[in-house]
Amino acid sequence: MAAALLEGKKIAAEIREDLKARIEDFRNRSGAVPSLATIQVGENPAAAVYLRAQQKTAEKLGINFKLHKLDEKTNERELIDYIDRLNKERDTNGILIQMPLPSGINAKEIPNFIDPAKDVEGMHPENLGKVLSGKFEIAPCTAMAAFELIKSTGIKLYGKEAVIVGHSEIVGKPVTLLLLNEFVTVTTCHIGTGERGTLPDHVKRAEILVVAVGKAGLVKGEWIKEGAVVIDVGINRVGDKLVGDVEFEGAEERAAYITPVPGGVGPLTVTILMKNVVEAFRAQKGI
Ligand code: NAD
Repeated sequence: MAAALLEGKKIAAEIREDLKARIEDFRNRSGAVPSLATIQVGENPAAAVYLRAQQKTAEKLGINFKLHKLDEKTNERELIDYIDRLNKERDTNGILIQMPLPSGINAKEIPNFIDPAKDVEGMHPENLGKVLSGKFEIAPCTAMAAFELIKSTGIKLYGKEAVIVGHSEIVGKPVTLLLLNEFVTVTTCHIGTGERGTLPDHVKRAEILVVAVGKAGLVKGEWIKEGAVVIDVGINRVGDKLVGDVEFEGAEERAAYITPVPGGVGPLTVTILMKNVVEAFRAQKGI
């Protein structure tokens, strides 16, 4: 039997309805609405699609969106000073840095300079630390999108076996923590697992599988456990098509739920970002 499709768009639409109502309520009560500042250093065609999606979603919801375009020659010190100015601006509730940054700027260090209260991507160590403890308002957007999709299936998480493929700071590690907080037994695989050749052994056990690597077709359809929930975060361009990291055809026959690529995790990520902006605004205003 073919798996049910987990389409991010549907859940995103529900979350957006809720956010719209909350923003309208803020406007009526205080006259203010959340405001998101996004910093782009130089031009990057790869980031342009995500940027446009952010702007469109923010505007639809009634969130003020301001793009700060910095010259591609901006150095790390200048970027940090710019972030600091936005940290101090009362009317800026959320700050987002568009990736990739030019070489010469340490992209991994930059989130550390955002005021944690305005870190709407959830990448500041203080916010990541809160995810570790399970008491958090803001978590990394893509990881949270994957987690929301898993929860949307309604399956009982307690005691389930999950396998995460990919251990990046933005996806694999935070997804691992989010599931651990729910008493899921989690195995996190990475390049070391791949090179050892044991990836199929782990994947075959997964009742919940999250794959975030960036290699088309890395996970074979026949590795998927019957009835699994499969979340494919990967986005790969193959010819003129976008595909995930999981071989969709084979996987779809075995899984109970599966995300399509495109149309799965991606559409939900931007909405989670906006939810983080709303949470940041609410916390800053004490409402
Ligand atoms: P990354 O490059 O930071 O991390 C890749 C991970 O894959 C690493 O943990 C690495 O050890 C692991 N890996 C590499 N080869 C492997 C192998 N052969 N076997 C097992 N593990 C292996 O990547 P990322 O930033 O986490 O992104 C992963 C994918 O998710 C990319 O395709 C990216 O485009 C996509 N992505 C999608 C969204 C979205 O909104 N849908 C957001 C972020 C990233």
